[in-house]
Amino acid sequence: MNPIIEMVDVWKSYDGVQALRGLNLYVQRGEIFGLIGPNGAGKTTTLKIIVGLLKMDRGVVRVNGVDIGEEPYEYKRIIGYVPESVSLPDYLTVEEFLMYSGKIKEVPNEKIRERMNYFISLFELREKRRALIVSLSRGMRQKVAIASALIHDPYLLILDEPFIGIDPVGQHILKELFNERVDEGKTVLISTHMLDTAERICSRVAIIYRGQNIASGNLEDLKQISRSGENATLEEVFLKLTEEAREQPVEETVEKKRSIFGFPRRGVS
Ligand code: ATP
Repeated sequence: MNPIIEMVDVWKSYDGVQALRGLNLYVQRGEIFGLIGPNGAGKTTTLKIIVGLLKMDRGVVRVNGVDIGEEPYEYKRIIGYVPESVSLPDYLTVEEFLMYSGKIKEVPNEKIRERMNYFISLFELREKRRALIVSLSRGMRQKVAIASALIHDPYLLILDEPFIGIDPVGQHILKELFNERVDEGKTVLISTHMLDTAERICSRVAIIYRGQNIASGNLEDLKQISRSGENATLEEVFLKLTEEAREQPVEETVEKKRSIFGFPRRGVS
């Protein structure tokens, strides 16, 4: 086992708000992995720590085998990241912004043009390629942000709530894109509240609750952990496990998790 992302006992607080409490997470290479969990559970905090936007208080994070606490810069080359609310330079055109994104990632001009044309066409932004970003709709901005995150063809793509604001055709295209990347051996990590989508596209998910990974694995694993029926959906399993976790005092949740399914379990992070 050589996970692309490994988080061990990660803690993070913001001015007294304990966002992560000993979170553990293992994402394998070549999978679409989903972080699911209620509002405020710690999903965005987890993603921001992985991409180096936030410093953890305690714990170890390895990305592609690199301890990001020890080597905080170089590892980012393999990552493409799309935050929850994208903030793009309004004064650039779509084309200028994508050229700029490619250049700062040291992609050769020819490759930038090739990928830019591909994504502009894929996301149906042809008519907007010379439009200023300020004039784009929210969904179009999201698509441009995704194209920008992919311009260096990253090995690890991380997206926080990628489907929000994107129309159904765009969502379909995005799911296909994720599948294609996984077919090429690359990894996609997303956070989402869309449990039906997560069930369909993710090979495994982690349920984040009160800053901890309370259960993770594929749907079969989660059904087993939650003692749910054979036909249970991810939504049903999620509701059951978070309901059970809600009844636990916060400080006991980790121990409970260990007793449910060992820690870490083989083949399941
Ligand atoms: P959502 O599903 O609503 O996006 P989330 O699972 O992504 O939630 P986080 O955004 O990681 O959750 O937040 C985890 C906790 O940390 C919450 O209690 C949140 O209020 C708190 N938090 C997040 N960012 C900050 C900040 N900049 N300052 C203070 N508290 C913060």
